[in-house]
Amino acid sequence: MTLSLSTGSVWKAVDNRIEGVHLVEKLFSSLIDGVELCLIDQKGFEEFELDKKSIKFLKGMKFNSLHTPSREYGKSRQSKKILEKIDKISQIIKLEHVTFHPNHVKDFSALKKFEFKTCIENLACGEMHKGWQFPKEIKAFLEKEKDIGFCFDVSHAMSNGINPKEFLELLGERISCIHLSAIEKEGRENHKFVFNSSKQAQKKIEPVFTFGVPLIIEVALEKEKIPLIKKEISFVRKKLG
Ligand SMILES: [Zn+2]
Repeated sequence: MTLSLSTGSVWKAVDNRIEGVHLVEKLFSSLIDGVELCLIDQKGFEEFELDKKSIKFLKGMKFNSLHTPSREYGKSRQSKKILEKIDKISQIIKLEHVTFHPNHVKDFSALKKFEFKTCIENLACGEMHKGWQFPKEIKAFLEKEKDIGFCFDVSHAMSNGINPKEFLELLGERISCIHLSAIEKEGRENHKFVFNSSKQAQKKIEPVFTFGVPLIIEVALEKEKIPLIKKEISFVRKKLG
């Protein structure tokens, strides 16, 4: 089973995005199979350049992915510039896929000009995310877009009061990977570890462990909690058997 870690999980301990990659390497490289470059903020993305050290590290990983900046994607020059940079990163370190928040994409055909594989992600609760939150609406979209993959975000589903099982059952083989974290109740909440969440939350999340697609640990942490990622990794590994 492939277990990956989002660099967004260590943001609070670093000054920029490339340092996040270095910190993931230093602390967790022997425990994970992949890295998701979380480049969701525009400034972090613009500054981001792979260096020799990160290229060597990431090339040795089995499963790399990238989370795109929160910008509008379509035919604009700005969009093209971002997508070209992502494509270049993909060619250097071989990205298995590139994940977009679908509400940012005004024109999906703009993404198809590139070689990287596009995934969309189900979104958290909130007015801005309408149309991209529930299993049925994601399914309807993916039925029209056969080449687009789906990254299932567990906490986003739970923030909308959806049991993760509903997504797994309805989307099935369209699920390319899973963003793994826990929240306790509906609504907006920081993404937390599964290992120390409540028994009820763990029970809801349980089916994702054996679903058979790469799991990407994506949590929002205060700096002092970052070493606990090791506990989350060993908790998930035990579940995977
Ligand atoms: Zn996510």
